[in-house]
Amino acid sequence: MGVKTLPRKIYVTRKLPEDIESRLAEHFDVRSWDEEDKPVPRETLLEEIKDVDGLFCMITEKIDEEILQAGKHLKVVANMAVGYNNIDVETATANGITVTNTPDVLTETTADLAFALLMASARRLTETSDTLRKGEWGAWSPMQFTGQDIFGATLGIIGLGRIGEAVVKRAKGFEMDVLYHSRTRKKDKESELDIGYAELDQLLTKADFALLLLPYSSESHHLIGKRELALMKENAILINASRGGIVDEDALYHALNNGEIWGAGLDVYEQEPVPTDHPLLTLSNVTAVPHIGSASVKTRRAMADLAADNLIEGLNGKKAVTPVNLHN
Ligand code: NAP
Repeated sequence: MGVKTLPRKIYVTRKLPEDIESRLAEHFDVRSWDEEDKPVPRETLLEEIKDVDGLFCMITEKIDEEILQAGKHLKVVANMAVGYNNIDVETATANGITVTNTPDVLTETTADLAFALLMASARRLTETSDTLRKGEWGAWSPMQFTGQDIFGATLGIIGLGRIGEAVVKRAKGFEMDVLYHSRTRKKDKESELDIGYAELDQLLTKADFALLLLPYSSESHHLIGKRELALMKENAILINASRGGIVDEDALYHALNNGEIWGAGLDVYEQEPVPTDHPLLTLSNVTAVPHIGSASVKTRRAMADLAADNLIEGLNGKKAVTPVNLHN
């Protein structure tokens, strides 16, 4: 008689769609935090992590050294996001823990949102809609509610990866001139996508729209601050669809309030949820949405499915589908 092996244990940090929960339950002994709107308290996670082999987590959890050390049996940490700045990958690697993310499945959906935020900011959609609802529309007049043109404008993309490239395709439909700045220059993409490379300062000087689509790291912390904002045109709009910490929010507030730049479109914030009394939210030239880059029904399901696949493969002795470390 063969020895029956006990199922691997995993902890899931949020309520998931039922069919994905059922799929995980076919493979694992699953415990989970079942609230939809509230992240698992840190003390609970520190306790739950102790005996599990795998963790299914969100960007709301800080998976730092303390958590990783507490997870004595931990083998796979599956983040339901493409960005993984919430995880101490270096410590995970040192402890032989595979970290996985969810690339590709969210690329087009996030590019849609980035472009929607660009359009909404340029044409003042949320601000003017609020005005209408408050009964403050008044009569049509020549310069009322005027914004910036998108068609034919210059777009500067900072971080030309999967999502950046997907945005280029949308921008080309609007006959925009596209410049990019990225850690690595991609000469093949320049001719393929009809885009030009620029150093960061040069891009900021020329762009009508500067769009951030790079990962957050110690290298990109406050990449856009007072000096960089001062380089931008007075009619320029900054769009952040990547991570809040890339922009110095105090500097952004002052640049917007002093008319140094024309507007900003924000999906992400240094602190999330962004406090409702945050100075940026008092400005009418800020279009603000609550970190909804990947939030379509289809894409969120695909992200959860991919995170589940990473645990299923990674904990069953195979290579995880989309690891960010332990590649060999
Ligand atoms: P990706 O394919 O890895 O692209 C990121 C690009 O940024 C790469 O080309 C990379 O250059 C470049 N880069 C990295 N560090 C840089 C730096 N310091 N300065 C300039 N460029 C730098 O990632 P992706 O799938 O497009 O996603 C990009 C980011 O978007 C994610 O990291 C995530 O934080 C964010 N995101 C946000 C949402 C949302 O809901 N708002 C949704 C999805 C993703 P190399 O080619 O040299 O690596």
